[in-house]
Amino acid sequence: MSMMLRMALRSCHLSPFMRLCRMSTEASKVSSRLSSLGLLRTQGLIGGKWSDAHDRKTLKVENPATGELIADIPFMGRKETTDAISAAYNAFHSWSKLTGSERSKILRKWYDLLISHKEDLGQLITLEQGKPLQEANGEVGYGAAFIEFYAEEAKRIYGDIIPPTSADRRLFVLKQPVGVVGAITPWNFPFAMITRKVGPALACGCTVVVKPSELTPLTALAAAELGLQAGIPPGVLNVVMGNAPEIGDTLLASSQVRKITFTGSTAVGKKLMAGAASTVKKVSLELGGNAPVIVFDDAELDVAVKGAVSSSSSMISFTIIAAKFRNSGQTCVCANRILVQEGIYDQFANAFAKGVEQLQVGNGFAEGVAQGPLINQAAVEKVESHIHDALSKGANVIVGGKRHSLGLTFYEPTVIGNVNTEMKISREEVFGPVAPLFRFRTEQEAIEIANNTNAGLAAYLYTTNISRLWRVSEALEYGIVSANEGLFSTEVAPFGGFKESGLGREGSKYGVDEYLEMKYLCLGNLKSA
Ligand code: NAP
Repeated sequence: MSMMLRMALRSCHLSPFMRLCRMSTEASKVSSRLSSLGLLRTQGLIGGKWSDAHDRKTLKVENPATGELIADIPFMGRKETTDAISAAYNAFHSWSKLTGSERSKILRKWYDLLISHKEDLGQLITLEQGKPLQEANGEVGYGAAFIEFYAEEAKRIYGDIIPPTSADRRLFVLKQPVGVVGAITPWNFPFAMITRKVGPALACGCTVVVKPSELTPLTALAAAELGLQAGIPPGVLNVVMGNAPEIGDTLLASSQVRKITFTGSTAVGKKLMAGAASTVKKVSLELGGNAPVIVFDDAELDVAVKGAVSSSSSMISFTIIAAKFRNSGQTCVCANRILVQEGIYDQFANAFAKGVEQLQVGNGFAEGVAQGPLINQAAVEKVESHIHDALSKGANVIVGGKRHSLGLTFYEPTVIGNVNTEMKISREEVFGPVAPLFRFRTEQEAIEIANNTNAGLAAYLYTTNISRLWRVSEALEYGIVSANEGLFSTEVAPFGGFKESGLGREGSKYGVDEYLEMKYLCLGNLKSA
């Protein structure tokens, strides 16, 4: 981090209004530095060339913490997507023919470049997405790890040999890349949601057309720039953004695109799944969650609420507060329903509320800030409507409960109590900094409430009883169960959901299967000597 930036960060201990004014200057310093490094790319990438929209239409990317303009980027649609698909299709032939080891070297170089620009990419994430800088740097480390992991896996895409059923035959399974991949990603993790897809796709020999969210395209473009510097050949990695439905429909309609991988809302995921049927594409979906956290009477309260805060630093590191308030509550695995057993409810609610009260809200560039703004006004309105609905049905506010005095899209970290299953917040993702506390009596009741949802991405439980830990983990209808731990994501483990939370898995050795076709090869009529 530069000396100048350090000084700018120090100047943030000001009144909310002054802080926003200062941030404005600081944000422009960050963007001009990124620009001088060549990392503030404002064009799409098609066939290795930085490109504008054919009709020069643009859209604005804004800093959610200040509302100020960061950049104008091309508003692309059908034409540019068709060009990007052609470029990816043409590049597939040579990229898929490289050895795993050759692809591995390029991916490894990309990883090294991403890590050497970790702070630059982190600043870009904070600038366009709003999350605190330390969290943004964490996202870069997490996201880059997928490129490193799949650089290694590129050398381990094994097939199989099957014992034949007759002596003159030999039976094999070959694993081959599926082809051109369309990858559509959301704004909440503008870097990691891309690398989780592009890493395994490129490792397998696929080529990709990425469509990042129009709200956060700059991180994707910077990562692509570093990919070019690492030697990813033209056409292997393309980035288009703009008219999301038109780009999506073009990817779906093309018979050259053989796979759609999507992270985002369940509603859009369902549309894409239906659209992929016309050309029978392979589909993987990482969709919305509605994560329950079950805190049993026998939980270690320290672990459950731990990490909340120390007075010198409000960096939130662990467990439920982290699981709820990370990224201002805007993650698919954020704790959405906190179920607390009656014997520990009051004690837990007090300790939890104390921790939440100390979370510092502000511009993600300011030191000590644990919670940035929400992504836009629609997100704030969704939070307000969930709180209004809950309060009208008997819930009470324990902490927060209103827009933050900083204005714009800042919202107070909020805890509400006496929540029940009749309230909207128990059925839908709030996707904001609101922790609803439910009270339950028995283990069976908690499992029933936890599973009573169409979502099935992540669930958390807190208990010191090892038999209960196994019993409840097995009963939860979720793709991920995290016991006595709030932060579980890692490139080495499979990430994905049951039910309407998605299809397929990202990360780990299983992640490559999403980008491979299996070919059964039968050699017959072999002559014996
Ligand atoms: P979203 O509205 O579904 O958008 C996701 C992506 O889809 C964006 O790139 C968006 O483009 C694009 N899109 C929107 N409409 C489209 C269409 N008709 N055709 C093709 N693409 C379309 O979701 P979001 O609000 O950005 O993200 C939040 C959601 O993502 C939450 O539900 C969260 O739980 C989920 N999520 C899931 C995971 C997981 O791993 N399961 C991880 C992170 C987030 P524009 O933004 O340019 O409009």
